[in-house]
Amino acid sequence: IFTAVPRAPPVAVFKLTADFREDGDARKVNLGVGAYRTDEGQPWVLPVVKKVEQMIANDNSLNHEYLPILGLPEFRANASRIALGDDSPAIKENRIGSVQSLGGTGALRIGAEFLRRWYNGNNNTATPVYISAPSWENHNSVFVDAGFKDIRTYHYWDAAKRGLDLQGLLDDMEKAPEFSIFILHACAHNPTGTDPTPDQWKQIAAVMKRRFLFPFFDSAYQGFASGSLDKDAWAVRYFVSEGFELFCAQSFSKNFGLYNERVGNLTVVGKDADNVQRVLSQMEKIVRTTWSNPPSQGARIVATTLTSPQLFAEWKDNVKTMADRVLLMRSELRSRLESLGTPGTWNHITEQIGMFSFTGLNPKQVEYMIKEKHIYLMASGRINMCGLTTKNLDYVAKSIHEAVTK
Ligand code: PLP
Repeated sequence: IFTAVPRAPPVAVFKLTADFREDGDARKVNLGVGAYRTDEGQPWVLPVVKKVEQMIANDNSLNHEYLPILGLPEFRANASRIALGDDSPAIKENRIGSVQSLGGTGALRIGAEFLRRWYNGNNNTATPVYISAPSWENHNSVFVDAGFKDIRTYHYWDAAKRGLDLQGLLDDMEKAPEFSIFILHACAHNPTGTDPTPDQWKQIAAVMKRRFLFPFFDSAYQGFASGSLDKDAWAVRYFVSEGFELFCAQSFSKNFGLYNERVGNLTVVGKDADNVQRVLSQMEKIVRTTWSNPPSQGARIVATTLTSPQLFAEWKDNVKTMADRVLLMRSELRSRLESLGTPGTWNHITEQIGMFSFTGLNPKQVEYMIKEKHIYLMASGRINMCGLTTKNLDYVAKSIHEAVTK
């Protein structure tokens, strides 16, 4: 009965890691992975997470009963609070709600499913959904799988100037049909590492408001862009202060290093409390048939950390450790390429923010890096700065130089 099933293509980023593992060359480097690595090239369990895990293990009041369908209340409330800010007008006015989800992906998926069912007409699969060009490749798939039929891209990356194409983006918003959905990266845009400035966000918000466009923020790297949780949430908070109704999908995979615990949160900001409660009641139905109720361990770790001033301070310090290492690798790579005299400009390496950098290497150069140099990176030229270490920097810089000059 399964003989006619075609084989689906592998997921690029996981395939790259599998190829890297199989590569026997001693010089090999993985710049494709979407996770933090230490200067020894190892995964990092945040010290605050280790500490809280022990507290949880020793807490005899905890058990493994089901959580509520919408998740752990103290996790949901505090996750939304760090996205929207302590003095968010929407929180004060009691017009926010949230759903604990399986990672940021789960938050996007529940949000997308809800929008298809209830936004802009019931089960309206024709509402255009706009995704930045380029974007994290799963955005497209999540909205396709949720049933949306009209997925479009909006201008974002200007390859020639290696920066944001603000005019292209604003033009696309002007032309988009009213009520279109726009997926916006809250900070540390994946894969380009290029965010709008506050002033540019203001221009974006003004057009979106005038054109009745729906903002669906994806916040997967809060703390990674600037090292400050508040700064990295600026765009979301500004939109809320402008009176938008919006969704914000949060992932705690990167900023807590809890990749495999699947900790995410979907915040809904609505018009009033009653409105939000009705939305949540529908989301509860969606969760019930999707994963029924979420896992507790990651949510407990995050909730415990966010509710203790001392643990919260420790966490911010841990996030800063990660963000600082990324910054160091950026400046070290740039200075090496500049001293090698590698053709082109390399200021974008330090100007881009977050974990990723869009190097500007073309697919042929990427192929050369992989095949000849055993340095693994995405075909788009995206590299994860955390794949760089003080030990492999020289080799990577020289290899990029050769790829560009050969
Ligand atoms: N959104 C973006 C932009 C991402 O880069 C990622 C992960 O790479 C996610 C969402 C999903 O994160 P999670 O692993 O928590 O599902």
